[in-house]
Amino acid sequence: MTTCTVLLIEDNDQNRYLVTFLLEHHGCKVVSAADGISGIAAAAAIVPDLILLDIQLPRMDGYEVARDLRSIVALGEVPIIAVTSYAMSGDRAKAIAAGCNGYIEKPINPDTFVAEIFAYLARQQQAQALS
Ligand code: MN
Repeated sequence: MTTCTVLLIEDNDQNRYLVTFLLEHHGCKVVSAADGISGIAAAAAIVPDLILLDIQLPRMDGYEVARDLRSIVALGEVPIIAVTSYAMSGDRAKAIAAGCNGYIEKPINPDTFVAEIFAYLARQQQAQALS
């Protein structure tokens, strides 16, 4: 498969390490940002194939980040996947309302995580092929 670039916006070092490890192991390039401001700047600069967005971020939360990302025209087709904690089910509807295309639950399950991300990437490639 072609190389994909994933932008990971996540403030937790361990989660950043785990996600980066899993995706790089499957051939993706991972760019990470530890807060919303630098994440938005990175997204605009690199236009990744997919953005993984932690909802609980310092200063600017993931909903705000998603709304800002959705205001950038170049990112209109880029899927944004929220990473929400399992206990916070209200997060999911709010994430979708803020412009996310889907969500993945925390804690990240290493056995299913990569397949979920690849399913979102495949869906996006299909949508682009049809448009
Ligand atoms: Mn967090």
